[in-house]
This record gives sequence, structure tokens and C-alpha cells, in this order.
Amino acid sequence: AAGSELVSLSRLGKSYGGVHAVQSVDLTVNAGEVLGLIGPNGAGKTTLVNMVTALTPPTTGTGTVLGVPLSATTKAHRLAQAGVARTFQQIKLFNRLSALENVLVGGYRITQDTLLRRLLFLPSARRSEREAVAMASAQLIRVGLADKASNAAGDLSYGDQRRLEIARALASHPSLLVLDEPAAGMNHVEAASLSELIRSLAADGIAVLVIEHNVRMMLATCDRIMVLNFGEIIAFGKPGDIARDPRVLEAYLGSS
Ligand code: ATP
Repeated sequence: AAGSELVSLSRLGKSYGGVHAVQSVDLTVNAGEVLGLIGPNGAGKTTLVNMVTALTPPTTGTGTVLGVPLSATTKAHRLAQAGVARTFQQIKLFNRLSALENVLVGGYRITQDTLLRRLLFLPSARRSEREAVAMASAQLIRVGLADKASNAAGDLSYGDQRRLEIARALASHPSLLVLDEPAAGMNHVEAASLSELIRSLAADGIAVLVIEHNVRMMLATCDRIMVLNFGEIIAFGKPGDIARDPRVLEAYLGSS
């Protein structure tokens, strides 16, 4: 239904000088849907999600994300307020803060400094702070990190750090969650469990837009997959169709 469209892009594109990083993408993403973006290095995946999250403005086409039109002046924080949250290719955690504190910092925009002062000098936390802690704990439970809430983020395994980033993104209660290579560096067991987590978020009604090089995991996780190559959509559809598509096989296996 049109009412559940959270992302709607029409001929969206981005050029850097003569380089067409993304060409003319049409896309809708619905609530509860997992939409995957795959493609070789430099295909335009990051550029596309950067446009969807207003980190970079499009040079052609139009788009609306959670009711906010994408334009040259759309600010990323405006989209965050509207309900967009994302993780990045590079893990961005405060290594010396606990898992719980990392979720608090991310979810409630408390600066690290303020948080530390409160934790150190105000042991009798005010009600709003207790609520914040309860909500942050709920996100750790959701991603399976409840028993590691007080562990320093830097001491967590790589897979757990990736989960913690998702918990932090979830703390703002997003309608659209954008994940940039969430399975990078994960082994098969961790990736399978991440896949389950992503499906459970979709079951809660969150739309998930995910970039990932682990094609096997993407085929198992996504409702639809868009395959980009040199900024162009070379295939778009259900995982079963994507896995059989000759152009996809060529892009991944063919010589360049
Ligand atoms: P990867 O899987 O390596 O992250 P990607 O699919 O995310 O790749 P992009 O990072 O979106 O690809 O890059 C797409 C194209 O746009 C590449 O040719 C890249 O060199 C170019 N590009 C991206 N950002 C810029 C920029 N700020 N200035 C110039 N060119 C850029």
C-alpha cells in the first residue's frame, strides 16, 4: 500500500564531475521490508544510502524519505528526527565505555562527557535517566547483548560490536534502519545470527536497507535485492531470481 512506503526514489542520481556514482535509481521501500543492496566495489551502494540518509544531496531525480523530500538543503539530522537511523562501514563505538553507555550516548544524544559526569557524580540518577537506561537495556536485549551490558565496548568480539552498533541505532526507535556492511568480518555463525536479528526487526515493522558483500547472507535475509554495477541497476528482485540472474553472475564472476 502507498501508505506504508517509507522510501520513494524516482530517477535518483549522483555524479562527481564526470563520474556517475549512481544513475537513475527508482526505488520504494515499505515498512517491515528488508531491502538489500549488493554490487562490486565502487558500484555506488554507499553513495545511494548516503543520499537516502541525506549525507549527500542527489544531482538528479527526486526522493522522499519518511515524508521528507531529499534536496540540496535536506539535513541528515532532519531525517534522523523523522525516524532514520544508520550504522557505518567503520565501527564507531566508544571503546572504553560499556555497551550500555554506548547505547545511551547514541540513542539520546548525550555527549560522552555529560554521560561520564552523570555516572560519576550523580549515582542517584533522575527519573528520566533511569528511563533512558531501561530503554537502552531493552535495545541490548533485542540484539542479544543483555549479558554484556557492562562490558567495555572495546573488549567485545567483532560480531558483538556490530550488534552493539545496531542496538545504538535502534535506541532512537527508527522506522528506517540503514546498515552499511553489518556482517563485515563476521564468521558464518555470527552472520546467520545477524540475519535472524535483521528479520526480527523487520517483523517489528522496521524497514531495513542493508549494504552487504556477504551475498549468501543477503539471499537468506532480504525480501528484495538491488544489484548495482558502475552506478546502474543491473538486477532487482527477489533473492531467488537474483541468484539466477546471468548479469549478476557476470558482474560477480565475470572478468573485468
Ligand atoms: P564499496 O563497496 O567499495 O563501499 P560502493 O558500491 O559503496 O563501493 P561508492 O562508494 O558509492 O561505491 O562509489 C561509487 C563511485 O563514486 C566510485 O567510482 C567512487 O570512486 C565514486 N565516488 C564516491 N564518492 C565520491 C566523492 N566524494 N568524490 C568523487 N567520487 C566519488
